[in-house]
Amino acid sequence: MGRLNTPDEQEATLLWGRSYRGTAEAFVDSPRPKELERVFNDDLKKYFALACLSRSKSASQVLVEASSRVVFKVRVLLEKSIEKPVVTFSLRSDDFLFQAFSGWFYGSSKKQGVSVRFPLTSCVPTPMCASGCYAHDALDAAPLPLIRGVLNGVIARVYEEGGNNRRKRIERLLQPHTRRAAIAAHREIQGLPPGWTRKPRIRFAHVGEAAAYPNFSNMIAMQVKILTRGEVDCVVYTRHPMADKLDPNLWVVNYTLDKTTERATARVPNNARIVYSAWGGETSQCGAVNFLEHHRWVHMKPAGKGSVCPATLPETTDRRCDALRCDFCFNKV
Ligand code: SF4
Repeated sequence: MGRLNTPDEQEATLLWGRSYRGTAEAFVDSPRPKELERVFNDDLKKYFALACLSRSKSASQVLVEASSRVVFKVRVLLEKSIEKPVVTFSLRSDDFLFQAFSGWFYGSSKKQGVSVRFPLTSCVPTPMCASGCYAHDALDAAPLPLIRGVLNGVIARVYEEGGNNRRKRIERLLQPHTRRAAIAAHREIQGLPPGWTRKPRIRFAHVGEAAAYPNFSNMIAMQVKILTRGEVDCVVYTRHPMADKLDPNLWVVNYTLDKTTERATARVPNNARIVYSAWGGETSQCGAVNFLEHHRWVHMKPAGKGSVCPATLPETTDRRCDALRCDFCFNKV
């Protein structure tokens, strides 16, 4: 484990975050993740330090709260800074899509399973979720996952704005990734605990908003359906105003409300399950399930009524849905 930052370093991190305005367009040799990491290395590291500070248990509370207030703004400005040269590259090179698909379009982790990430620029955050977002926690704030989110977002935008040829090219380039993701989703089933089974699934978007790119996302879900003959489900977590553009035949939709939006039920699509972000542990009965706020070092106790996701309870030790033998959020409503 690296050493903890000193109070002076923490203060310098906060000052940087407060003054950060993004960068003028940088030149990149290619849109490959390693090249983007090289060019934006300094800002990526500083954002990561800021995100850690906003979650710190040992730093002064004043610094923690102050960094929380700017962490979303900095993340989005950094993502936009990385996005600019990638978009420019996409306009000047036919090779762009091939290079942007290098590495992994889908991700996979023990906790999330197979999942897709997009940039936080795709979000329409509530006053509570911007700073509380789990995208600022641990690995999701690290340089390469952040860059992957930006690249996926640019690919999605090219698809949304592109003509038929570009769309077809993206579909072709995505296919091997989707095939690999489907195999990984099936492999998860082989590792399930004894006496427990469920359908294989891919989760959208574990960071960012798939609903911000509805044509692209519907295309992916259709590709998953065709390649797996309907065996793998696509599950979306969203609070996006365009959630109703996701094809109800292709998606399991979990629509997230919180204290600041719980009266806005009119925007919830008909086919969606309402789930509730219980920031500070404050639960509600307006959703089918409450997710208690939880970060690496902090797990909120439930306060209020309503059913609670067992993976978010403070006393739970193994927080994987499969370990808890629960697939409540992944079944069609
Ligand atoms: S309610 Fe069940 S399925 Fe949904 S996140 Fe919690 S443990 Fe997983």
